[in-house]
Amino acid sequence: MAAFGTVFTAEMMLAEYSNNQWSEPALVPVNSISLHPGAHVLHYASTCFEGLKAFRHSDGSIHIFRMDKNVARLQQSSDLLALPKVDAAMLRQMILDIVKRYAADVPNPPGSMYIRPTHIGTEASIGKAAAPSLSSLLYVLLSPVGDYFAGGAKPLRLLLEDNARCAPHMGMVKSGGNYASALQPIMKARAAVQADQVLFCPHGDVQETGAANFLLIDGNEIITKALDASFLHGVTRDSILTLARDRGMKVSERELTVDELLERAVKPGAEAALSGTAAVLTPVGTLIHNGREYAVGGGVAGTTTASLRQALNDIQWGKAADTHGWLTKVC
Ligand SMILES: *Cc1c(COP(=O)(O)O)cnc(C)c1O
Repeated sequence: MAAFGTVFTAEMMLAEYSNNQWSEPALVPVNSISLHPGAHVLHYASTCFEGLKAFRHSDGSIHIFRMDKNVARLQQSSDLLALPKVDAAMLRQMILDIVKRYAADVPNPPGSMYIRPTHIGTEASIGKAAAPSLSSLLYVLLSPVGDYFAGGAKPLRLLLEDNARCAPHMGMVKSGGNYASALQPIMKARAAVQADQVLFCPHGDVQETGAANFLLIDGNEIITKALDASFLHGVTRDSILTLARDRGMKVSERELTVDELLERAVKPGAEAALSGTAAVLTPVGTLIHNGREYAVGGGVAGTTTASLRQALNDIQWGKAADTHGWLTKVC
């Protein structure tokens, strides 16, 4: 099985912004863009993207999960990066058109079609370090993906890091530079303590990992950081919290300190998990802080993480009622 995100369909949808307007979106070969080496994105990181998925149901129909949330987030990211404004209806239609075109390539569950809308500043001007790009490209890539958990959902090892993942006012932007700034800490954590991910906790404030949100589950309660500008507002996070409320769990969106996390996470029955579109909900088995390892739940795997993940998958895969109207039928 090819690694996640390395297989692409032959075509994508593309729209170009120039002279204050968007071109008519077109279906083009994936390798058909060319950039000037002085393009704004290549120097000043005017880039943002989205990640969402289309699923095949047992009757063969294809459904996209919470598309409008991702469209709105790309609009917000574009605004925060001073990229040209993205038209929601246009982007929505681009996503629908490309998924419909490649409907036959949407894998069966547990696979899915990963959808990657991307928006980049293309103006050829290296003098614009402090000015926005007046032209841009918006494209929607597709990548069929398999079972993220092939080989089992192995509980992750997280290193708690005192530094921030990115600049505090950029956390809610799904933008390239944020991942670049988190890369060295993650590589160091892998080498030093064989961590899978870094949990960024600036000043003891438990935020998120490099590409997923963090949830502490303690009995009937889920605790996760309340939304603010410092971290990415995950659609999966929101979906899992909604499903938790549906089943009567207490959802606490508030500050979570490293001290409280380490104290509560080791108690029997405690669970910790990462949420994101790619992996849905992944259990965390070990927290590492100041040279000490803390076994989550005392080392006993909990059941709430798996059951919430299943509940979300059941909706995505058409096996449970879509009571919140999260799916958009493509065909
Ligand atoms: C994409 C992402 C998430 C998860 O968001 P989803 O909408 O659930 O996929 C969380 N944190 C970061 C930094 C991300 O890039």
